[in-house]
Amino acid sequence: MDEWKVRTPYFVIDEKQLGKDFAMLTDSLQKSWENYRIGYSFKTNSLPWLVTYLKDRGVLAEVVSDDEYALALWLGFHDGEVVYNGPVKERESFCRCLLAGGMVNMDGQRELTWLEEICRDHPGRVFPVGIRVNFDLEKLCPGETTMGEAGGRFGFGYENGVFAKVVERVRSIPNARIAGLHLHSSSKSRSVAIFEAIADMACRLKREFDLQLSYVDLGGGYCGGLAGRPQYPDYFPAVGKILGQEFSPKETMLVVEPGVSLLSKASTFVTSVVDVRDIGKERYLITDGSRFNIDPTMIKSSYLFHLELQEETKKQRRTMARQCISGFSCMEVDRLFSYENGTELEEGDRIVYENVGGYTMSLNPLFIRYFPDVYIRRKGELLKVRDRWTPKEYVQRAMRFGEEKALGDVSREDGRTE
Ligand SMILES: *Cc1c(COP(=O)(O)O)cnc(C)c1O
Repeated sequence: MDEWKVRTPYFVIDEKQLGKDFAMLTDSLQKSWENYRIGYSFKTNSLPWLVTYLKDRGVLAEVVSDDEYALALWLGFHDGEVVYNGPVKERESFCRCLLAGGMVNMDGQRELTWLEEICRDHPGRVFPVGIRVNFDLEKLCPGETTMGEAGGRFGFGYENGVFAKVVERVRSIPNARIAGLHLHSSSKSRSVAIFEAIADMACRLKREFDLQLSYVDLGGGYCGGLAGRPQYPDYFPAVGKILGQEFSPKETMLVVEPGVSLLSKASTFVTSVVDVRDIGKERYLITDGSRFNIDPTMIKSSYLFHLELQEETKKQRRTMARQCISGFSCMEVDRLFSYENGTELEEGDRIVYENVGGYTMSLNPLFIRYFPDVYIRRKGELLKVRDRWTPKEYVQRAMRFGEEKALGDVSREDGRTE
């Protein structure tokens, strides 16, 4: 297949690279703590092909909403293969997951009430649950966490004694059991020290509260695929060493919830230059990709990319001091980067962004252009695994003006007629 003939823009996942990174993850876990499970973080990128590729390799579905939970079931996961996290669980799926033996990590007061109710309704069963703990990671790793001294807002606070109260409350339910701790914390540094501190916290909580844990869930937040940064084989031996002080793989499973670290290196976004224009002193290249595709939260300050120039004109190019690479949208902020002292680009050349697998496809907006095509690369061929959106997918079952009259005076919250 001639990639030049493929319509841009599109995302590509390189299957071989993905396989390599996944193998690196499982190898280092196997060597460091052979009793482990991987819960793949749906929110990072829930492309059905990707999720089912990982499912085929035995991962659990780590979900943080009812919608993600429903997608997991849609894609063939059983309730017992779900790791249910986050503060916006819904009662029905919470119960479903617990009853089926999935991993539920509680994050909020109402979930404690739900647990009490389920336990009361099923007195003959014992329900193992996890508790998400919030602790002062910034104090342990100064300058490294996302929220800094302000602290995070997930889980039950350890330092202020709320976690202790939760432990007490769960222990007062005769047929509930604290089976796990969930310690996911986001950091800027994604350093090995962060995960050592998290593992150390698990040990400390075990000692302080005399917990018998079936699992310790470290969460996600690992680095992957970036030169000079840590990789899986750096994290897990270090973590295993610390956990080994209080836990043994015989009794306690290590749960990890990687997202972006698994996909980074395997994913690219291919765009084309659609127009070259000079305005004032500036050279602008308009491309058919957008910052909204690869930096939807507008936080990146640089991009990893390479150029693919058209063969016919490649040799005659001069160098230009500065070209402003910009996106297709009508917003002025949709400028990606300033390409300095590089080859003069022409209409039809391609700019391929690298390391764009996480928090891109899942955060893409439906602004001006709809979601782009997604391919996988297998043995040098591109295979399309998701079609770009068209008005058909956008419209869904929306009404046109006038059609709502058929509903009469009855107000329907969901706007649907059946
Ligand atoms: C976001 C998230 C992850 C995945 O984080 P990455 O940085 O993509 O590895 C895992 N677990 C939980 C609870 C999360 O919120």
